[in-house]
Amino acid sequence: MTWLYLILGIALLALLLVGLLVAGRRRQAPPTDSTDLLAPEQEPAEAPPEGTSLDDLLEAPEEPEAPEESAPTAPVLEKPEKPASRLVRLRQRLAGSGALGRGLLGLLSRDNLDEDTWEAIEDLLIGADIGVGPTQELVERLRTRMRVEGGADGGSAREILREELIALVDPTLDRSLDVSGADGRPGVVLVVGVNGTGKTTTVGKLARILVAEERTTLLAAADTFRAAATEQLATWGERVGVEVVRGPEGGDPASVAFEAVKRGVDDNLDTVVVDTAGRLQNKQGLMDELGKVKRVIEKQAPVTEVLLVLDATTGQNGLIQAKVFSEVVDVTGIALTKLDGSAKGGIVVAVQRQLGVPVKLVGLGEGADDLAPFDAAAFVDALLS
Ligand code: GDP
Repeated sequence: MTWLYLILGIALLALLLVGLLVAGRRRQAPPTDSTDLLAPEQEPAEAPPEGTSLDDLLEAPEEPEAPEESAPTAPVLEKPEKPASRLVRLRQRLAGSGALGRGLLGLLSRDNLDEDTWEAIEDLLIGADIGVGPTQELVERLRTRMRVEGGADGGSAREILREELIALVDPTLDRSLDVSGADGRPGVVLVVGVNGTGKTTTVGKLARILVAEERTTLLAAADTFRAAATEQLATWGERVGVEVVRGPEGGDPASVAFEAVKRGVDDNLDTVVVDTAGRLQNKQGLMDELGKVKRVIEKQAPVTEVLLVLDATTGQNGLIQAKVFSEVVDVTGIALTKLDGSAKGGIVVAVQRQLGVPVKLVGLGEGADDLAPFDAAAFVDALLS
């Protein structure tokens, strides 16, 4: 019996030893757990190079340089040309329509100013869209002065013509744009005119003039009927850092205008320029639309300038449009576009006479700064150059 207990004890001891051995081996074996396999392999630590001191080793490891963050690049804003130099720069473009001036000078310098010559002068003036009334006035004054002061001297003919043309264009009219508000409110410029006359382009160019004069400006894309007009205006604004308030396509133009002028008041801006839709469907429709826009704006701030945009190449048609608009809104100034493409500079005189309102701006090309403040003497000099 004792034997049996002894053998069992030895067997148990042997089993215990074997068990301990196996457990020890297991602990040393590499992990086989599948999740551990996905862990990144640890690089074996590199031995420090020879001569490395303890201080070196204790020093904080150098932060790896953060890759340079590419800061969002601000759009490079354009610097628009100051308005004062514009008409002079664009003189050549006007001179392109100077057939009128050259033709008149040629006729007036004739030795014999007979009836045929005066008739030719009249035809030239009427052909240049000056209008019948102003033409007769001018011819009358030229006849008198040429008789008294003239003669065969081309120099004096030129001087007389220059003076009379300037008088006709009227240098006494106040052509400054009313872009400033009162009582801390912004000036509001309402821009009206038939589509295609260059209205939106003129609003964009005007924004550049205001920026050049360091005025804080906001544009309102209230021509919500022409999707392209809003996009067009947004591009103009972006180029000079002027914000554009827009509404949904086909939305209410008055609400866009209201929103913009409200922003202008809240943000203490200098000027808000409002582009409008130029649908000449019928006079009543136009009146309702523009009337509403104006009323709504004036809940916030008075409209300081109503600028009518007219295409100089449209002649009599343009004058009819001008008349309709002036009956609908109180036009305070005219922006005459595309004078570069017209041989009919006389429209300046005709439209001023018809509306009793001065031409304040002239468009002389498709370039961004091809809009100039109008000046009677500079205009006539360009015609005669
Ligand atoms: P809107 O429909 O009245 O808003 O007209 P836009 O502003 O879209 O202009 C119609 C076209 O006239 C565009 O191609 C303009 O570039 C062009 N335009 C505007 N002003 C002038 C100007 O003074 N001279 C010339 N040559 N083209 C102009």
